[in-house]
Amino acid sequence: MTEKGFTIDFGSGEPAGTPVATPAANGAATTSHSKLMIFGSGPAGLTAAIYAARAQLAPTLLAGYEPGGQLMLTSEVENFPGFPEGINGPDLMAKMIAQAERFGTVFVNQDVERVDLSKRPFRAWSAGREFTADAVVIATGASAIWLGLESETRLRGRGVSSCATCDGFFFKGEGVAVVGGGDTALEEALFLTRFATKVHLLVRRDTFRGSKIMVARAQAHEKIQIHFNREVVEVIGEKKTEALKLKDTASGATEQLAVGGLFVAIGHKPNTELLGGALPVDAAGYLQVKEHSSASAIEGVFIAGDVHDHRYRQAVTAAGDGCRAALDAERWLAEHAV
Ligand code: NAP
Repeated sequence: MTEKGFTIDFGSGEPAGTPVATPAANGAATTSHSKLMIFGSGPAGLTAAIYAARAQLAPTLLAGYEPGGQLMLTSEVENFPGFPEGINGPDLMAKMIAQAERFGTVFVNQDVERVDLSKRPFRAWSAGREFTADAVVIATGASAIWLGLESETRLRGRGVSSCATCDGFFFKGEGVAVVGGGDTALEEALFLTRFATKVHLLVRRDTFRGSKIMVARAQAHEKIQIHFNREVVEVIGEKKTEALKLKDTASGATEQLAVGGLFVAIGHKPNTELLGGALPVDAAGYLQVKEHSSASAIEGVFIAGDVHDHRYRQAVTAAGDGCRAALDAERWLAEHAV
């Protein structure tokens, strides 16, 4: 893996189309051009890089200062095919990074600050450098929204999670809580009933935001206890989650609830700020792709992973999406002879 910071690693080999660094005329220190530029280094971006690099496109992957995406915050991953014993999230990402590097992906471990997708070549700026490319894959992911408590951050991966599909299995035979009143929280609560002895659903208002059918299902489930007007003010536990301190938002009274897990399901935010509104989004702010492809509304710009997908949000679906985007980009580049 390349070092964090200002270094651009041009890879060990020199596949066709290796990026060329030239002094830039516009104030940026240098300009590097490649056939394909990928934004984001989660499973979607890295899989796109593996496919594009093996197709000799020598993609530049703008990975951010903390490469690896959401799986860097996950402990054990047991549902990624090929790892029957499970694998740590960061270890899985290190393997994907090594695989992308092996075929000549150029990693730039810096955040992208700004992009210009209005004309080709497409351009991106990062820490005083300019990157240009004939095609782009956007795989910037989505970030879970957290409550913002110190104790929540400290115990993340130790009972505090934002993904029941990923971590629910670890709470077999325990009591857990889900915070949120939308469809995600309702879905997570219902899913967790498969493992947990009891699921406490903590809703900050006296009503749900989620759909009627999901609410009815949760209300009807014997393992789910709904607590309205409850706010989590602290996650209690030293090495792992042991209880929650709750506040009644109506009376202000506090109470303690013993649980082994807290699932925060108050929404996700697709990471689209850097695009500056260049591409259309849906009502929830997710990018939109053309049907049955990864194509965006801009020719030569492709989309992969959680930045457009709020339905599946899995490492393996994001990886599959990255593959599609790389294949689409490769075909588009060949058809347009750039
Ligand atoms: P959402 O609809 O925005 O709901 C977020 C929930 O979290 C709301 O109940 C909100 O409370 C609560 N919340 C926000 N900040 C909070 C905080 N700091 N503390 C406590 N509670 C907080 O988000 P979502 O549930 O992730 O759903 C996003 C979109 O995806 C929706 O359009 C949803 O329908 C869709 N979705 C669909 C499905 C499905 O169809 N199966 C599944 C999942 C999601 P307030 O209501 O008080 O603001």
